[in-house]
Amino acid sequence: MNFEDKRKQLVESLSKRGVLNKKEVIKAMLTVPRHLFIPRDAESSAYMDTPLSIGCNQTISAPHMNAMMCEYLELKEGDKVLEIGTGSGYHAALCAELVAPKDSNDPGHVYTIERHEKLVENARVSLKETGYVDKVTVIHGDGTMGYPQEAPYDKILVTAASPKKIPPPLREQLKEGGILCIPAGSMGYSQDLYVIRRQGDHFESNKITGVRFVPLIGKYGFNP
Ligand code: SAH
Repeated sequence: MNFEDKRKQLVESLSKRGVLNKKEVIKAMLTVPRHLFIPRDAESSAYMDTPLSIGCNQTISAPHMNAMMCEYLELKEGDKVLEIGTGSGYHAALCAELVAPKDSNDPGHVYTIERHEKLVENARVSLKETGYVDKVTVIHGDGTMGYPQEAPYDKILVTAASPKKIPPPLREQLKEGGILCIPAGSMGYSQDLYVIRRQGDHFESNKITGVRFVPLIGKYGFNP
């Protein structure tokens, strides 16, 4: 089976499981080639619903997690998005597909921050190869500080596990009415995924489900 067929099969199975519902997210998952964001020797596993190693002791999340976060963020054309934890760049490309679809009159943009320089380089190469380089800006740094240069953001997603106290810069850099999706809890293997909506200075938080992410390391994250 070729990669495109495998990708279709994965999307069908996620839809059947009820993980994927929105047609825009389904289209994005069908479009972005996950196999071009992972090490070549893992290519044959690219369309299995599992996290994969991407080097620097980090992983690309399982596809169902990418799908869930995209749905909860209610990403739409024109959104300005901040992602903390670029990793492979795959999730950033999915977000770009949703906020800046082809031939858009009102394209949004994705800013994504990664602390490992090697992963920054790899992600830039993958994003170039897959045609997302103009829609995604990859920044090397500590994402717990956010990225004030482009704030405020319509949507913020964190793809590493935050301590229970959400990094204050991320709350501050969220636009009024904006949505923040973040796993928070302990550094080990137990966190919950939260969807937080800003209304004025009030943050309405919803706990979604138990999850397992690599730790968010930084000033407002865990210690290295
Ligand atoms: N979204 C990624 C998955 C990332 S795994 C993908 O689609 O592949 C989480 C990533 O967060 C790791 O690459 C890790 O290095 C990074 N990370 C952890 N703490 C960080 C911080 N403070 N700032 C930026 N990146 C961080």
